[in-house]
Amino acid sequence: MFRTAKRASAAIMVILRMKITSVETIYLRLPAVKEQCDSGQDALIVRVHTDAGITGLGEVDSSPMAVKGAIDGPFSHTTTTGLAHVVVGEDPFEIERLWHKMYRANIYSGRSGAAFHAISGIDMALWDIKGKALGMPVWKLLGGGFHKKIRCYASSLFGPTPAATGDLARKFRDQGFTAVKFGWDPMGQDEKTDIALVREARKGLGGDVDLMIDAGLVWDAKTAIQRARAFTDSNIFWLEEPLRPDDYRGYRKLSEATHLRIAAGEEESGRQGFLQLMDEGRIDVVQVDLTRCGGFTEAVKIASLAWDRGLPVANHGFTTYINVVAALHWLNSIPNALICEFVAETGTTLRDLITKQQLRAEDGYLSMPQEPGLGIDLNEDAIARYRVS
Ligand code: MG
Repeated sequence: MFRTAKRASAAIMVILRMKITSVETIYLRLPAVKEQCDSGQDALIVRVHTDAGITGLGEVDSSPMAVKGAIDGPFSHTTTTGLAHVVVGEDPFEIERLWHKMYRANIYSGRSGAAFHAISGIDMALWDIKGKALGMPVWKLLGGGFHKKIRCYASSLFGPTPAATGDLARKFRDQGFTAVKFGWDPMGQDEKTDIALVREARKGLGGDVDLMIDAGLVWDAKTAIQRARAFTDSNIFWLEEPLRPDDYRGYRKLSEATHLRIAAGEEESGRQGFLQLMDEGRIDVVQVDLTRCGGFTEAVKIASLAWDRGLPVANHGFTTYINVVAALHWLNSIPNALICEFVAETGTTLRDLITKQQLRAEDGYLSMPQEPGLGIDLNEDAIARYRVS
């Protein structure tokens, strides 16, 4: 009995004295990459190692080699420094302090964009370490527990034609999804195609499934207002990213002119950009990508700012299951989670190869992870096979 207690207290001391020993950036890429919108063709994974033998996992969905440079780079001067240099030797439990240390050490290049996105990967890995050390899922560390499962939507690109989009819609409906999103090409080519794409999507889904449309940054405000009117008959749940992300005034004009929910946020980095979208742009649904926004530490603050304004939030995630799992922990930790984005296509990209766990929706819902930390592990064989840097 005494020996067991002594061993347990020695293990606790190892965790309490734990230090970060290295940060590893892993760039994965399929041998053949097509020039099309598909985020499963490469991935930038972050692994943080500690002297307690616990490692944490993170992901950054950005420009992979720019992120790698932002993390692996040397000390340059006090406001431009590789992020690994900033956190090695530190206590991985002090996540809020380390977040600010990374932000401060990188403020020239990292107030937004790739070098800011890089913070997300390390932050995510630190929460994974903390959860593994304490034997708790990240959502519990964040004080969550709002859901046992959460509704997700099948997220897809449009088919190449309106008719092909209708076929895709029927497929997702038959898989049990109660919400489906289509986005990007060929939306934006001309008015007739735009309207036909949405009409065929609605026809394919029938009347009972929610339909989201992701325009893909194609219009000015006036065109977006015209499309919002034209889409009214198809009963859209939200219209996503119709405008350039910096066109906050355009977002405001659009929001004031339509009753459709306007969704945006995946192009933003941290809180400041989201504040502009909410307060200047007057968007209705705040979309946060955990692998870009600064990680969990920043994402819970963004959700709070949205809650203060009476706005629901959803994740953005079009990459690996690491991103989806992170989103589930976050959505389970906040009071204003609306729905979870989920790519339902399987088998064609890195997504189904690089992690041991593959997520599947059941009747249009995803279950909350219950394992310590993020609850997702790399498939080392696949990592060795697809690692290019
Ligand atoms: Mg989108």
